[in-house]
Amino acid sequence: MYQSVIGLEIHIELNTKSKMFCSCRNDSLERHPNINICPICLGHPGTLPVINKEAVRKVIKTGLALNCQIPEYSQFNRKNYFYPDLPKGYQISQYDLPLCKGGFLMVGEKKIRIKRVHLEEDTAKLIHPPGRNFSLVDFNRAGIPLMELVTEPDISSAQEAKKFTQELRLILRYLDVSEADMEKGQLRIEANVSLQRKSRKSKVESRNKLGTKVEIKNLNSLRAVEKAIEYEIKRQKEILKEGKKVIQETRGWDDVKEITVSQREKEQAQDYRYFPEPDLPALQFSPKEIEEIKAGIPELPYQKRERFKKEYGLEEKEIEVFIKWKELGEYFEKVLSELRNWIKESEQKPEVSEKEFKKLVNFSKNYLAVELLGLLGEIKVDDKKFPITPENFAEFIKLLYKGEISSKIAKAVLKEMFNRGADPSHIIAQKGLSLISDEKTIEKTIKKIIKKNQKAVEDFQKGKAKALQFLIGQVMRETRGRAHPEITREVLTKILAQLK
Ligand code: ADP
Ligand code: MG
Ligand code: ZN
Repeated sequence: MYQSVIGLEIHIELNTKSKMFCSCRNDSLERHPNINICPICLGHPGTLPVINKEAVRKVIKTGLALNCQIPEYSQFNRKNYFYPDLPKGYQISQYDLPLCKGGFLMVGEKKIRIKRVHLEEDTAKLIHPPGRNFSLVDFNRAGIPLMELVTEPDISSAQEAKKFTQELRLILRYLDVSEADMEKGQLRIEANVSLQRKSRKSKVESRNKLGTKVEIKNLNSLRAVEKAIEYEIKRQKEILKEGKKVIQETRGWDDVKEITVSQREKEQAQDYRYFPEPDLPALQFSPKEIEEIKAGIPELPYQKRERFKKEYGLEEKEIEVFIKWKELGEYFEKVLSELRNWIKESEQKPEVSEKEFKKLVNFSKNYLAVELLGLLGEIKVDDKKFPITPENFAEFIKLLYKGEISSKIAKAVLKEMFNRGADPSHIIAQKGLSLISDEKTIEKTIKKIIKKNQKAVEDFQKGKAKALQFLIGQVMRETRGRAHPEITREVLTKILAQLK
C-alpha cells in the first residue's frame, strides 16, 4: 500500500499599485500589450531596480497570518536562467534569506506546515498565435510583484490540496494582498507528488524516507489541481507496481486530455547560480515595523468562524456562507447591530433582550444565508455592494419578528427589496402585502367563505377536523395569504361554534 505525499509551491500576484522594482502600473488584466512598461521592467542595461515597500509589507502580512517567523534580515538574489519572457537573463527572487519562514495553516483539523514565503518578480507573457511561426511577448506582466509560498510535504490527498488552496485563497482576500483568482493567473500552483510505502513506523521516521517526487506545472484551476494530483498518484502507483522507479522530473498538466506530460528533468538549485542581488540593499526589520504590519491584519477566516459560532450560535454551513462571502458576513453583522440597538431601546430587562435577540439573529441568518442564496438566480446582487441599506434590512427583520408579514410574503418582499433597493414598509404598502390583523375584516371574509362552503361547515359539525383546515385555506386564498393565520383560526372557530 502506498501513501501519497504532496507539497505545493504557490505563486501569487500581489495587488500593489505599482510593479516590484519600477513605478509602472501593476495591472495583470491590462489587455493592450506592452503598455505598462519602462526600461527597468524591460531589463535594459544601466537601469537600477528600487524595492516596492508595499509588496514587502504584503508578504510579511501574509507570513504573519500564516504563523510564520519573520527573520530580522532578508535579501534578494539573482536566479539566472535564459528564457524569452525574462529580458534580464535572470529573475530577482529570494534564496537563503526569504521574508518569512516556518509557518502553518490549519485545514480543518489538519495542520499543514509552510516552509517559506518569499518575494520575487513575475515574468513577461509569451503568446503563441495558433498556426503561425512566431511568438509574441507582452511585458505588462514583467516585474509584477510575485509572492511564492512553499509548503512542507504534509498534504496527503488531492482533496486536501484543493482545500488548502481554498483556505489560503480566502486568507489572501481577507488580507487584501491579492484577488487570488486562478482563472486570471493571479494564483498559480505547482504540485509536487510522490508515493511512499505505508509503514508502521512513526511519522517522523517515515518523513525521512520520502519517495521520488514529480513536479506538476500549469495548474490553472482548482479542478486542475485536484485532477492532476489524482492522475499523478495513479500513474506513479502503476509504475511502482510494475517494480519500476519513478523518475524525478517536471510534468505539465494537459487540461484537455486530463493527463500529465513529461516536460523536462528537473534542474538543481546550482543550475541557477543564485547570488545576492548587487543592485539592491539587504533588508532589516525592527520589531516595531513588524508589530505595525501585524496591527494591520484584520480578523481572519478561522477567527471569524469561532466568533460567529460563539456569538450568534450559527451552524457550520451558515457560517461558511458568511465566511466565503465576506461582504455578506459584514452586512449580516451590521443588520444585527441595528437590531441589537432596537431591542435594547424597546425592552428594559436585559435577560429578555438576549432571548429576543436570538430570535432576530435567526430571522436574519435565515433570510441572508438561506433565502437570499435561493433567490440568487432571480435577483441581481453585487458581490460587494448590496442595493439595500442594513437599516432597511433590519426594518424587514423587525416586520417578520412582529408578525406583520408572513414568511410567504417575506420572500416576495425580499425579492423586491433586492431588485429595487426600496425599503420594506414602502414595498408592503405599495403592493398591499401587510398581514390583515383586523378581526372585523377577517370576520367579513370568513362569513363569505362559510356561505360558499356549506358542505365543509357540515363536515366540521360532524366532527371532521380536516374541514376546519380547509376553511382556513379558503380564507387565505381569498386574502392572497394576507389574513393573520392565528386570528383567522380563532375567529373561524368562534363563528362555527355559534352556528351550531
Ligand atoms: P526543490 O529543491 O526540488 O525545489 P524543495 O525541498 O524546495 O525541493 O521542495 C519543493 C516542494 O516540493 C515543496 O513544496 C516540498 O514540500 C515538496 N516536496 C519535497 N519533497 C517531496 C516529496 N518527496 N514528495 C512530495 N513533495 C515533496
Ligand atoms: Mg523549488
Ligand atoms: Zn517598469
